[in-house]
Amino acid sequence: MPLCITNTLSGRKEPFVPLKQGAVTMYVCGVTVYDQCHIGHARALLTFDVIYRYLRFLGLDCRFVRNFTDVDDKIINRAHEEDISPADLAQRYIDEFHRDAAALGLLEPTLEPRATEHIPEMIALISRLVEGGKAYEVAGDVYFAVESFGDYGKLSGRSLEEMTAGARVEVDDRKRHPMDFALWKTGKEGEPFWDSPWGRGRPGWHIECSAMSTKYLGQPFDIHGGGQDLVFPHNENEIAQSECAAGAAFARYWIHNGFVRLAREKMSKSTGNILSIKEVLERYDPVALRLYMLTTHYRNPIEFSEDALTEAQRSVARIYETASRGNRILGPCRNGAVDPGPMDDFRGEMDDDFNTSRALAVVFEEVRAVNRLLDRGETRALEARRNALRAMTEALGLMQTPPERFLEEKRRAGLLRRALSEDEVQRLIEERNHARKVRDWGRADDVRDALKEKGIILKDGPSGTTWELSE
Ligand SMILES: [Zn+2]
Repeated sequence: MPLCITNTLSGRKEPFVPLKQGAVTMYVCGVTVYDQCHIGHARALLTFDVIYRYLRFLGLDCRFVRNFTDVDDKIINRAHEEDISPADLAQRYIDEFHRDAAALGLLEPTLEPRATEHIPEMIALISRLVEGGKAYEVAGDVYFAVESFGDYGKLSGRSLEEMTAGARVEVDDRKRHPMDFALWKTGKEGEPFWDSPWGRGRPGWHIECSAMSTKYLGQPFDIHGGGQDLVFPHNENEIAQSECAAGAAFARYWIHNGFVRLAREKMSKSTGNILSIKEVLERYDPVALRLYMLTTHYRNPIEFSEDALTEAQRSVARIYETASRGNRILGPCRNGAVDPGPMDDFRGEMDDDFNTSRALAVVFEEVRAVNRLLDRGETRALEARRNALRAMTEALGLMQTPPERFLEEKRRAGLLRRALSEDEVQRLIEERNHARKVRDWGRADDVRDALKEKGIILKDGPSGTTWELSE
């Protein structure tokens, strides 16, 4: 089965056939840099990171562009509040974004264009629309005339009448139609501005993505992605602008990820119901957050749950422990034969609209299979099976650190949280060993119970006493 993608534009699952065989062009709407990124951003970022990884896993040559919106009302307002320039504020949050992206283990896109570095391209695009009668100027503002584009509404599946009836649109005498939207805004005092044929001003938000995507990917390009909240009006307006300006289709496949709900509310700034990526990663491993997000299909909503994250933490540990166990017995993974059976299953699930939740079921089936082989000491079959496990976990971005290092760091962090050191635990184990030797069972049990209370579980085996952290 070829890769199939649910295309928001058609509302159907379609076989994915790139424009150019063996290559993919993909644009994903980036963040507006005026604040910390929250868990809803993390979902979009992880969704498209996994899609990008999987397209590469399929051997496709990917060109992936994700922009920064670095001029916007929210940036300007926040900069005024803090009495710094909008450019400085934007740079601060671009830096924060890059820190979050690295912490989440995202692959870097091919390009990360910034809106303010593409003003001439936007002006050229707007000029074409004005010349073609698709846009009009009113006192330094330029609006797109939605009625000039017969297909307006084809992405969100709503007619112009429905939109007008559904939206509480402010009456603006300057607009020809209430749904007309700004391509260029005349400059107000104290705001960043650029010279244009319509006077000094700045671009509207939607035109940025039209200009940057087609500059780097051509028109049409293969995949346009973003969060579900961008379908209307942002993505709808991108289509209108770009298709009217070029007289050609814009993007061929539209992929949209679902929301993250906190306490049954959509995560959004307006409700004040937010949780930053940084806050989550202070308490949970980034790989656990990734695995947690992947347990739900990217199109469905996620109810944010700390219990599920804790569970994901355990599942991640199981993957790494299995890999580490394999390394101990077989030595480090070499590039060798990969068992085709589990790989076919994995691909089958991922090819079905990136069904990561079912692909994860294949991964954990493989974890069980590898452990069974390790238990039985069947090393011959093992190599190809653990190579399969490694290939799958790498394709999902779940294995970015050598397992030994991951487990060691986890152990150290666990001790730190419990205000214990490795030496201290060792000293208590020796104290218990001594008590047992002199048959002071009461004392030996006390030491074991005291450690247990701190979340350290002792295990007595033929080669002595080892310990592990309870969750
Ligand atoms: Zn966009």
